[in-house]
Parts: sequence; C-alpha cells; structure tokens
Amino acid sequence: MTDEVRDKIQALIDLKGLRMTRPREVIMEAAFSDPGAHFTADELYERARAIDPKTSRATLYRTIALLVEGGLLHEIDLGKGVASYDPNFIESPNHNHLICLDCSRVVEFEDQHISVMEDCITRRLGFTAASKSIQIKANCDQLRRTGECSERVG
Ligand SMILES: [Zn+2]
Ligand SMILES: [Zn+2]
Repeated sequence: MTDEVRDKIQALIDLKGLRMTRPREVIMEAAFSDPGAHFTADELYERARAIDPKTSRATLYRTIALLVEGGLLHEIDLGKGVASYDPNFIESPNHNHLICLDCSRVVEFEDQHISVMEDCITRRLGFTAASKSIQIKANCDQLRRTGECSERVG
C-alpha cells in the first residue's frame, strides 16, 4: 500500500468519525496490497482471512461499502456475474480494462488518446467527466495461434 492510499484511507476514516480498528486495517491491507488485483467480495474475504482468520464477513461488507462510498474502491463489472472491486483508481484514476473472454484474464491499460477522446465526447454531450473507464472484451490471439490460453501475460 502506498502512502497516498494510506493517507486517503485515514482521511476517509476521519471524515466518517470512525476509528482504524484492527479488523478494518486487515481488510484495507488485503484490498490495497496489490493495486493491479481486482477482487470479488469473496476473494477479498479469503485474502483478509489469510492475514487474520478472525475477519468477519459483516465487517468485510461494511468496509467495502465504506471504501466504495468514499471513492477509494470502485465497483466494476468484469463479467463474473457478481460485482468486482478495483483498488487501482487512486493511483490510476483513468485506467481501462481488457477482459479475455477465454481465460477471464484482466489487463489494465491507459491511453492518452482515449482519455482525450472521452473528454471531447463528454463535453460535446454537455457534461464533465467524473471518472473515465472503458472496457474491451476480447479473445486471445495466443489461444488462436497455439490452442492455449494461459493466465500468464505473454
Ligand atoms: Zn483496474
Ligand atoms: Zn486468455
């Protein structure tokens, strides 16, 4: 977890008049230890339990709701049928996702041109962008070529 993320979490906790309890800290640690890793509530629960087996689902759901409300965690749809959460919008506020339909791999990418284009479209429609993210669903070239679709980034 970077200092920037830590500061934003502390500011949110203060704003809400809460205290940084150990159970909350464990969940935040699990959520923000790897900004590239998106997770479902169940996956975060497993990660948090690996740090502290006493983690409760009630605290987990409340903490996720707090982080989403505070804008630190973004709820996104990665086509899993349940909501996924993305901890990387603090460090990369405009990042996009490519989802491999073959192996469900999620690749994050940023592109200056897309960002400018999104601003243009938003302005043309009479709005100001609050957050920008596009999603590309794709098939692996690797699978087509080799008949294999690995989780490995190749
Ligand atoms: Zn992401
Ligand atoms: Zn794939």
